[in-house]
Amino acid sequence: MLETKRERYEESYLYRIRHSAAHVMAQAVMEMFPDAKIAIGPPVEDGFYYDFDLPRSLTPEDLEVIENRMREIIAENHAFEKKVITSEEAREIYSDQPYKLELIEGLEQGGYDEYGEPLYAKPEISIYQHDTFLDLCRGPHVESTGKVNPDAVKLLNVAGAYWRGDENKPMLQRIYGTAWESATELEEYLWKLEEARKRDHRRLGRELDLFSVSDEVGPGLILWHPKGGMVRKLAEDFAMAEHEKGGYEFVYSPHIGKAQLWKTSGHLDWYQENMYAPLDIEGQEYYLKPMNCPFHVQIFKSRMRSYRDLPLRFAEWGTVYRYERSGVLHGLLRVRGFTQDDAHLFCRPDQMPDEIDRVLKFSLNILRAFGFQNFQAYLSTRNPEKAAGSPEQWEAPTEALRQSLERSQVPYQVDEGEATFYGPKIDIKVKDALGREWQLSTIQFDFTLPERFNLAYIGEDGQEHQPYMIHRALMGSMERFLGVLIEHFAGAFPTWLAPVQAVIIPIADRHLEYAHQVDEQLKEAGLRVEVDDRGERMNAKIRDAQNQKIPYMLVVGDREVEQGTVSVRLRTEENLGGMQVGTFLEQVGADIKARV
Ligand SMILES: [Zn+2]
Ligand SMILES: [Zn+2]
Repeated sequence: MLETKRERYEESYLYRIRHSAAHVMAQAVMEMFPDAKIAIGPPVEDGFYYDFDLPRSLTPEDLEVIENRMREIIAENHAFEKKVITSEEAREIYSDQPYKLELIEGLEQGGYDEYGEPLYAKPEISIYQHDTFLDLCRGPHVESTGKVNPDAVKLLNVAGAYWRGDENKPMLQRIYGTAWESATELEEYLWKLEEARKRDHRRLGRELDLFSVSDEVGPGLILWHPKGGMVRKLAEDFAMAEHEKGGYEFVYSPHIGKAQLWKTSGHLDWYQENMYAPLDIEGQEYYLKPMNCPFHVQIFKSRMRSYRDLPLRFAEWGTVYRYERSGVLHGLLRVRGFTQDDAHLFCRPDQMPDEIDRVLKFSLNILRAFGFQNFQAYLSTRNPEKAAGSPEQWEAPTEALRQSLERSQVPYQVDEGEATFYGPKIDIKVKDALGREWQLSTIQFDFTLPERFNLAYIGEDGQEHQPYMIHRALMGSMERFLGVLIEHFAGAFPTWLAPVQAVIIPIADRHLEYAHQVDEQLKEAGLRVEVDDRGERMNAKIRDAQNQKIPYMLVVGDREVEQGTVSVRLRTEENLGGMQVGTFLEQVGADIKARV
């Protein structure tokens, strides 16, 4: 199911609207603070922002004033006018704007654009003006401020942002806003935003006692608490068992390796900025691993391989460490240490199409088991500017990936020339309950490592041949995957994944003994159960269990003791009434099996 390539956001009308709204907002802020220093203000996904250096902190009331002024500027319908200027003129205009001067310098040298993003060709310098506001800008914009719908613009919040994301540089105030074509779209977006706030995995992580980050340990390093650890273990146990059934073999590798290994693999040449400083061990440099591949390659190389040994599928829940600036770290989604459900496939060319089919199917099955139904795949093809291997070498694997996507019925789009230099790949994004896309799986060919490490197998002809190598991670990283799961389910994990599946709530102390009997019976059946024996009132206990998103609440009082039953309530507040413990076990068992 090939989809025509989506319109690029940068080329969309919405992008122009948001970019224009950012300029309008900057004008309003400049009027409020004539001495404001302005930095950058690009459109972003779902909105826009602008960074300011202001004499004081902005308040929510300020945002309201700015927003009202924006509506006036929109109503005045000023045209956006572009002018190409020289760098001297630009410096003149922004003589009292240090951030703009820095950006002009970047533009002049040709290395950076007006947002400080790296550029490959030296750009022309242009400004856009509307009314009194003038910005260093390459556009594009709508024709005039009146094209921005005043009922579809909203300023959202203010956050601190370091200039150029560098914590050694000044902290600026970033105003986030959003703009849409219609008021209805804005409303929908605000609803989703509120819903996303409720599902924020960092907040739920705290409330449900799943994980934390400790200042004493360091940012971006996750501590899994018993409940989060249980969810993770259950997810891993399931996936590992599937891997075993799927013909994978498990390997384990260390967390550090010699500099020479990373030299040979190429990581020290093209990935070093993501790696941590080396450790010195007896005069030898060692690096923390940012990837598991070189280790698995060594396992492949540990003995002579014959064509009959292939395919080999080495799987490892491998923990890797990658440098991320502290400013971009985000809960479980962006961290410095994480565990990939990594595997490397080594196969003969004739086995490759089957192997691709198999791994794609496998990947979708795993994701479906966790409740994801909507997928979008992306096929990245060769970039002639930077690609290892010859175009002919890329042909068969690219075609195999494409055909496999066709057979899978998953909608996909081709990202021409978007592959990394070492091979074509498929990325799979899932849509969560709010329709947000998350990139999880990746299936990636590699033409470079087999060559760099001289991998070979003895073919039927008795000669040495180079195997195909495929990297693949299906859940991606366990940290990120669980972050996505928490948000997808809003913390209400399906019964099979819930850290506590049922809580037994005795109404009074005299029911405690019976509660513990039931507890024992359920634990024996393999259920994760707790007895809430606190001296709280029943309603408070039910409310707490609901807040903890525990799937089943079993209330026991006089009648239940007498009849040997439990009174079953769901976290959805549905009341199933009294039933025999055996009947309850059957129902839970069915839930667990169905993974709901
Ligand atoms: Zn602009
Ligand atoms: Zn790899």
